[in-house]
Amino acid sequence: MLCHCTVCQRFNSFEYGDTLVLRLKDLVGPVPESVSFDTYRPPPNIQRGVCKGCKQPAFELFRSPILPDIAMIPLAMHQGVESVPDPVSHLFYEHRCRDFDDNVPKYQGYLRSQLAFGKSLLGSFGS
Ligand SMILES: [Zn+2]
Repeated sequence: MLCHCTVCQRFNSFEYGDTLVLRLKDLVGPVPESVSFDTYRPPPNIQRGVCKGCKQPAFELFRSPILPDIAMIPLAMHQGVESVPDPVSHLFYEHRCRDFDDNVPKYQGYLRSQLAFGKSLLGSFGS
């Protein structure tokens, strides 16, 4: 998922957030104590965590009453990037810093971006 929202831009100190999205229950072990969480905007659905050591974005936690608990890991922190699936969507594309000439679907606006996010989660977490 490529998110162009201004919070992701700020959190990642980059023009967009590039995150691997997983069900929290599919991760092994607890969230490392080396991650320090903060909430960047209300409602506090997404907790964004940075490494206490290097201060780099490390882990995001998304809890919602209608979806499974979700972990989002900045791609830069993922070891074995070649095994990561291709992006499925550009979200909040209206906030992009530049145009993207790719075949990845682009969603604009809060509602459309949220719906696209939820729909792709439900599609990939169907089992
Ligand atoms: Zn975002």
